[in-house]
Amino acid sequence: MKITFFYKGRYFLQDAVVTETLSAIAKRYGHATALVYDQDIFGLSDNIISSPALHRSFANPKNFVKKVMETDPDLLVFYDAIHLNRNWIRALLAGITQAGGCAKAVYLSCVETPDSEDFNFTLIGEPELTFDLFLRERQDLGSARVFRHPGVADLNGLPIPDKSLFDGYIDFKDSYLVFTSKGCPGRCSYCLETVLKDAMGAHYCRRRSPWHVLAELKAAKERYGIKEVIYKDSIFAINKDWLREYLPQYREQIALPFKCFAKAGSFDAEMARMLKESRCYCVEFGVQTFNESLKHNILAREEKNTAIQAAFAICDEYDLTYDADHLFGIPQESLEDHLTAAGIYAQLRRLNRIKCHNLVFYRHAKIFESSPVDIKNDSNYQADFFSSIAGSPDMRVINACFQKYFKILPLLSTAANAFVRNKHRWKFFKFVPDGLIMAGMLILAMKNRDKRFRVYLKQYPRMIIRMIRGV
Ligand code: SF4
Repeated sequence: MKITFFYKGRYFLQDAVVTETLSAIAKRYGHATALVYDQDIFGLSDNIISSPALHRSFANPKNFVKKVMETDPDLLVFYDAIHLNRNWIRALLAGITQAGGCAKAVYLSCVETPDSEDFNFTLIGEPELTFDLFLRERQDLGSARVFRHPGVADLNGLPIPDKSLFDGYIDFKDSYLVFTSKGCPGRCSYCLETVLKDAMGAHYCRRRSPWHVLAELKAAKERYGIKEVIYKDSIFAINKDWLREYLPQYREQIALPFKCFAKAGSFDAEMARMLKESRCYCVEFGVQTFNESLKHNILAREEKNTAIQAAFAICDEYDLTYDADHLFGIPQESLEDHLTAAGIYAQLRRLNRIKCHNLVFYRHAKIFESSPVDIKNDSNYQADFFSSIAGSPDMRVINACFQKYFKILPLLSTAANAFVRNKHRWKFFKFVPDGLIMAGMLILAMKNRDKRFRVYLKQYPRMIIRMIRGV
């Protein structure tokens, strides 16, 4: 059987790896697979330039329909974890039907979803598990339309993700994306991981064995000659026993520079030493806000500011560069919160980047209850952590100024940062063009030898050219 998968959005996300794994599962059963990929350039998920006007002017839905028809599929598989792409999928399916396509369509979702005539089959549950069972038990593509399966897959029993699916789109040599785990022990109110854990149960949060991860990385080294590894686990540096077992083998067998996520509350000197010795070049921490009341009551995050500052101090001591994720648009945030954060960030020695995110109110997440009325009433509400500027009307200009400021803050001296904070001088960022901020970020990246920035600089223009050429 020929199976065509679909993916929309930037590559460096868990959904891309899930799609690769689904393809690998299909191949295990002897099926041929193909991918139709909408890179969503300038769209909501574009974390470099998100511009609805530009996106509209370059959009070419007919081209995607043409690509689907060229794959001559028997089965179309749409993975859409929490229904963020349902409208895009429906429009694409309508185009395929209009063009005479008659393949059966499968919709795979992690959360409950209403049955829909648009799809021949709706699979609900952990995608790797439900899709495997579907292929195994429904080879006749039998009659039941909705197929649910509780439980989670054995991660060590899954095949290595089929990277060839994205060949031609992603240069794996520059940067190889890997997950050593699924889920997160946290329960933050705005996070997709919490939604997935609620949908699939407490067992959702688990980790692959070191040998399974190393087998994937060894294959990637041989096949692509990869130069760096990005661990995209929600929190890579969390279980010290696992790290103690994994990292020495990683040093011996892979020995490539890598980046990963850590959680301040469970970070300590031993972890910093292990990461540094194993060629970790940057650790990313979720900060979101230094207002502990907002953090606790609205975001449902538990760690204290003291834990975050202690983790930064440990990284400074071990000369380990770090990024801080900061969130804008939290209900009840204030100017004072941003000034406090700026004061703390300005003191940090090895801070690489403050990654500015905008709060997204996923409909399935707890935070949705705290969303503004206009969002609650907008059934088409869609946003991404990098698109537009979030916040209440009285905070939007302030947030826009601080987002620009934070992007270049690590470049400025302590005295220069104090100057910006005083007498409301941060307001001048309103007039600083985005291009200048981008130039500042580039200088910062060069100063810190930020490999991630280099990858984007290299790959983003290629993506634009590919989109213009319609390939
Ligand atoms: S700690 Fe991070 S990944 Fe985990 S639930 Fe919170 S935001 Fe999500």
